[in-house]
Amino acid sequence: YKMSALSRRSFKVILLGDSGVGKSSLFARFSGDSFTEATFATLQVGSCRRTFRFGDREVTLELWDTAGTERMLSLTENYYHHASAALFLYDVNDQATFLGVQSTWVPSIRRRDPTMTTFLVGNKTDIASTSKYAFENVTLDEARRYESSIIDLKVAGNFQVSVKTEEGVHELFETVAEALCGDV
Ligand code: GDP
Repeated sequence: YKMSALSRRSFKVILLGDSGVGKSSLFARFSGDSFTEATFATLQVGSCRRTFRFGDREVTLELWDTAGTERMLSLTENYYHHASAALFLYDVNDQATFLGVQSTWVPSIRRRDPTMTTFLVGNKTDIASTSKYAFENVTLDEARRYESSIIDLKVAGNFQVSVKTEEGVHELFETVAEALCGDV
């Protein structure tokens, strides 16, 4: 009989960002659902688990979605409670949502738990590439400049993805899982 050296850890990961940036869509992708153009005005906070394996380490991410409660700025303390990682979402076509990350969502973590592992995630790159207003897009360079200005939080990744086409989505979750697994 050989003892298994497999280590298993589970981490709570929360989605933060202004309304409309794609949190629920990302959550649905994570849960294995397909993309839908429809918005769900559900006010129920949901969570979903997925397990990733790196060699002899197994990491389960338990992803939480605000499901619209951020609209009233009424995210509960329970939402943040015991979270290991936070994903700051913005819409790459909407500078206001990138400002929202800086003025609302990053400070909300700073106040509660500056040891949390965080990620910057720009969404809807599928629109950005075709936009004639491309100069207004939030570029990855811009996001990196902002990242390097954050000196009091751990930013473990800086992504731009499309939940619609799934570009970069799998890599995002893998990186989150790996970063948390390395933290153990
Ligand atoms: P939330 O308010 O942050 O939860 O945002 P939702 O997930 O409800 O998304 C808001 C809208 O953006 C919905 O109509 C989605 O279909 C759309 N959306 C989400 N992700 C993408 C994406 O990657 N590309 C495009 N084109 N639309 C997206």
